Amino acid sequence: MEQPSQYGNAVETASEMAGNPSREPDLGLFGKSSSELVSILGEYGEKPYRGRQLAEALYRQRLNHWDAITTLPATLRQRLAADGWTLGRPEIAESFRSIDGTERYLIQTAEDTVETVWMPEGDGTAEDASDTNADTSAEGGEKADEDDSDTGGWKRATICVSSQVGCAVNCQFCLTAKLGLQRNLTAGEIAGQVVAVLNRHKVVLNKKRVNLVFMGMGEPFLNYDNFMAAVRLLRDEVGIATQRMTVSTSGIVPAVRRFAQEPDRPRLAISLNAPNDSIRETLMPINRKWPIAELVDAVRAIPFRQREKITFEYVLLDGVTNRREDARELAALVRRSQLPCMVNLIAWNPGPGIAYSSPTQDSVLAFQQELVVAGIQTYIRRPRGRDIYAACGQLKRTTDQPPIPALVMPQ
Ligand code: SF4
Repeated sequence: MEQPSQYGNAVETASEMAGNPSREPDLGLFGKSSSELVSILGEYGEKPYRGRQLAEALYRQRLNHWDAITTLPATLRQRLAADGWTLGRPEIAESFRSIDGTERYLIQTAEDTVETVWMPEGDGTAEDASDTNADTSAEGGEKADEDDSDTGGWKRATICVSSQVGCAVNCQFCLTAKLGLQRNLTAGEIAGQVVAVLNRHKVVLNKKRVNLVFMGMGEPFLNYDNFMAAVRLLRDEVGIATQRMTVSTSGIVPAVRRFAQEPDRPRLAISLNAPNDSIRETLMPINRKWPIAELVDAVRAIPFRQREKITFEYVLLDGVTNRREDARELAALVRRSQLPCMVNLIAWNPGPGIAYSSPTQDSVLAFQQELVVAGIQTYIRRPRGRDIYAACGQLKRTTDQPPIPALVMPQ
């Protein structure tokens, strides 16, 4: 059911931007695949192994200065630099540290800054436990031996990655929406956030378990091609299995249908946030374009891996989505969907200029209990980095607001 609206125009604009190659910095090497690098260096008369050495330097060794790439001859580096080629990886420009260990970064791209969040030990939800709900024995699966000897004692971590600067989707409970959509990030800018953060924490990927969640600024499925190109870079060049990645969508149905056709893809989370269309429309204008039933139908077409489940994300807004009848209606909706799934409950994280209230801990537990009684696997997301505007729905490049008190939720 198509309904013309201001919101619909924003979606189309975002899609057009995604397909606009002029936004990709022409001479930035970071963001190009091994085969593209082989081809670029081939034009300099170099053998294919030189391109692969450059890919190794950019993505595995995470080098970001010509001088450091000593596997390439100095004369070749000089010729590339003289022709205007840059390494071009985004770098951390500013960082904020929460009392709970979470770090939020402003990451500098060629044009502006974008936000990325590092959560040591994750946030207690399904994405943390990716081994338990996806078949990691599938192609690309990696094994981490959870060695904590090299990087500050953490055993697993989650990186929350942005796909756009700002967002067009305009969810009423989200601070990012206040920015509007500024632009789509390139594949290199999306993957570059991950590499910059891995580098900051000196992560050795085969020693540590790192999960990626594409749940930062923006709607990844409104920047679909660049998002999936970033996934392939992260898988093939950086070395993170897609089973350790989760992408969240507000429900862009045509993109969900494309996603269903991907031969190798991240896990999927649906940002549901309401038990029915009428409440969801008030919170998420996207629902007027693609209502819940249409979204669930599109998700059903995904061929799920063995033991894989999708996640329904559900933000609890006091008096709006956290009532007992909401829990019962949500349970019925989830059961009716017949999807292999679980639910993540998120106590709303406050932000300036948004008039909702956070639920009490008791009401969060009562809501969870209703779902559990209905036989639905349900997690409560531990708020991470709330005091530094790093928690879910709080990413707005905040640098000057007073801290929000941290919230301790039951484990
Ligand atoms: S919740 Fe996600 S999709 Fe909705 S406005 Fe915020 S960033 Fe965009």
